[in-house]
Amino acid sequence: MSDWTKLTTADDPIEAGFLRGLLESAGLAVQVRSMELWTVAVEIYYSEGARPSIWVRKCDVARARQVLERRDEVGEGESWTCPDCGERLEAQFTTCWQCGHARGAEV
Ligand SMILES: [Zn+2]
Repeated sequence: MSDWTKLTTADDPIEAGFLRGLLESAGLAVQVRSMELWTVAVEIYYSEGARPSIWVRKCDVARARQVLERRDEVGEGESWTCPDCGERLEAQFTTCWQCGHARGAEV
């Protein structure tokens, strides 16, 4: 049982659930701890110590960190503007449909 290690601390149960799904979809075993406090009395336990923490197996830590880093890169649905033609594009598009400019590429 000692092969679990704390990966990160989530801001709230919603983020914890999101991170858990993200890690599980990458094939990692995940434990979320302190969640039960939230379901009992959110107001009372709204403090640093009651934040849900995400735990993974020690052997999975490196992969888990990669998953979290990738999540930061992707962002959360931010739209972007093509630096070439100025077209406004939704987050799901990785290239400009107007001129074919790849998102994040240098002009
Ligand atoms: Zn463009």
